[in-house]
Formats: sequence, structure tokens, C-alpha cells
Amino acid sequence: MLKPTGANAQFPNQQPEFLKVTDRVYCATGYALGNVIYILTDKSVVVVDTTETQSAARATLEEFRKVSQLPISYIIYTHHHGDHINGAKVFKDKTTKIIAQKRFVQELATYNQLRPYNRRLNIIQFGISLPPTERGVRVAVNPNRDGVTKQEESGFLPPDILFDEKYSFEEGGIPFELYHTMGETFDHLMVWMPQEQILLPGDLFYDSFPMLSSPMKPDRPVQEWAESLERMRQFQPSVLVPSHTKPIKGRAEIDLTLANYARAIRYVHDETVKGINAGLTLEQMRQQIRLPEELARLPYLKPAYGRVEWSVNGIYRKYTGWYDFNPTHLNPGSVSTFHQALLEASGGSANLVKRSQRALRDNQPQLALEITDVILDTEPNNREAQVVRVKALRKLAEISINTVEPNVYRSAAQKYEGVVQQ
Ligand SMILES: [Zn+2]
Repeated sequence: MLKPTGANAQFPNQQPEFLKVTDRVYCATGYALGNVIYILTDKSVVVVDTTETQSAARATLEEFRKVSQLPISYIIYTHHHGDHINGAKVFKDKTTKIIAQKRFVQELATYNQLRPYNRRLNIIQFGISLPPTERGVRVAVNPNRDGVTKQEESGFLPPDILFDEKYSFEEGGIPFELYHTMGETFDHLMVWMPQEQILLPGDLFYDSFPMLSSPMKPDRPVQEWAESLERMRQFQPSVLVPSHTKPIKGRAEIDLTLANYARAIRYVHDETVKGINAGLTLEQMRQQIRLPEELARLPYLKPAYGRVEWSVNGIYRKYTGWYDFNPTHLNPGSVSTFHQALLEASGGSANLVKRSQRALRDNQPQLALEITDVILDTEPNNREAQVVRVKALRKLAEISINTVEPNVYRSAAQKYEGVVQQ
């Protein structure tokens, strides 16, 4: 089976759906990684988030134009990530104003400073070099007939209005309140529509355990994320329209969902802090910290996108130094020299290859992968080790219920394509 399912969670939506949420609110989901949310006022349209490409943004706008021809007065960026800002050009005309939180500028500058790195990590995280059928979580890219991805020019436009903690305005009889709510990023905002009792939480809620610490991205403010969810609960929204996955309706259900989401975040945070103070190693914490059963079984807390183990890594790193209390690692030597010594001591690569093959047979793909590190570091062209490595990577991708992991594993396996037949 190639498509990871995320075990009942809906992250990400794979099918384009243009949803009428209420008479005034429409949500275009599944056109891209990010949703576009349209809010119809009496005289104009307010757009919240714009997806990662202009073509996806345009496809959603074509649907919306069947509903209304009113001009777009405002675009709101919930935060600076590409899947929220890169479709903006499609919506902007001369009078449209773009709103973001004040830290947006600084956050985007930091992102741009690492642009080559971010481009590389996005190719891996979203499986952009993989055939579409092998991708887990994906961004809106247009593969041509060879399955080769065509990168689109960004339609990002800089914001016109920046605010600090709160920004209120009224448009076409509809009051809007924007609040600075950290979590996914430091520049994150939520949109509250008091008259309609509708809350747009941006990326602070979606249908998966949250990505509190992304494998290749900077740490996220975890405690603030939980606090932001509690602030949302105080409004008692009757409709929740997130920027990924589908809207939720019903005051009681939303309150319970936000409460459980916040509880899960705080649980992982607090258990990690306890572990650090108790002198546990990072490895021990990664193995021991699990959500309580009543939270773990909730569909929106399945590890379809974020994972508890990755969150433990991030929280540990946030609060401690890089030293892991193993003096070997204070000033480590060359890994290759160490691998070479291990290889010699095991009587050569043939023995290690055999051991890695046994690990594969015993259904231990992670161990098989680790052994091939030792062999291929010393003998990069060892064909048998390459075969084991590709099989281990494909197995890890296949058994994962997460949507980032298959992209990482299958992208790594591509290195040996041609050497190893499927
Ligand atoms: Zn996003």
C-alpha cells in the first residue's frame, strides 16, 4: 500500500472541496496543502490565507466567483509559511489591503536568509521529487507528464497593515477581531468574528497531533500554543474553520476538541520537562512519553502530521544544551573513523551485510537501516548494503501512519534508484 492514511485523521485533504460553512463563510480545502477561507460581507470579501501556489488559489477563486462577484477588500495572512501566503497575487487588486501580525516581517526575513536550506527541506518534507502516488503530505505542485514537478513562481505580496496584539475592523457590517496567538509560529494570528461566533484558528488546530517540532525546522513555542487554544475556548465559538483540514461546527464539540488539543500539548510538554529534571536521557523520554489513552484514541490527535516523539525532541532541545551527558559526545571524533573501526572489528562488511539482512527478515527495518550506515559510510558502493538500505527505507515508509515520514524515507531511497530495482 503506497498511500499513508494517517489512521483516520484527515491530514492532508487530498480531494478539492469547496465547502459552504455558513451563509457568509466558505472554505476551499484540498486544492492545496493550505485552505483558502472566504468571508462574504455586505459589500466585499475578506480572504484568509491564500495557499502555496497561484494556480491552486485561482482554482478556489473560480469556485467562489460562482457565489459572489464582490471585490476583495482584505487578505489576512495567519502566519508567514508558504502554504498561506504564496497565492496572494490572485486575490489582490488596487484597493485590497493585506494584514499580518507585526513579527511576520522578521520571521519571513529569517526564513529567506535560509532559503536554499528551506528549499532543500521542503523537497524532502513534501516529497516533491517523488511520483505523486508515493507522496504523503504534499503541496500543490503540477507534475507534468513525466511526473516531474514544475515549480511555480510565488504570488506572495507584502502586508500593508501590521499589528501587535489586537487589530479590529468592520467591513460590510461584519466586525472582525484579529489576535496575536503564538504556536505554529511566533507571528501567528487568529481571526474572531464576534457577530457570527466563528473562529479561524489558522494552523493552531488541524486534524492531526500538532507539529510542535518539525524535524527540519526551528523550534515552535509549545506552551504558547496551548495558551492560544485556551484563549480560543474563551470565545466559545460555534464554528471553527482551520487553515488545514475541514471545519467543525457545534459549540460543545469545538470546546471539547480545543480543550483536548491543549491538554495533549501540555501533557507532552510537562512530561518532557519532568523527564529532563529526573535525569532521563532523550532516548528514554522518546520511548516513554505517550499520550494518555483517552487522548491517543481521538482521531484529531493521531500522528498524521506531528508526532509525540518529535515533540519530545524539540522540547528537550528548547530547554537544554546540545550536550547529552555522554562524554564521548562532548568533542566527538570522525563518525567515519568510528564506522571503519566497527567494520574492521566485525570481520569486514560481509558480516555486517548479513546482520542487516537478518534485521530486515526479523522485521527490524530501523536496525537494518542503522547497520547500513556503518557499511555505506566506509564502502559507499557496496551493492548488497544499498539493497538492504532501500528495502529498509521502503518498509519504514510503508508501515508509517504519519504523512511526513514516507516522504523522508522514499526521498532517501531515491539515491539508489537504478542501482536497486523496485
Ligand atoms: Zn500551514
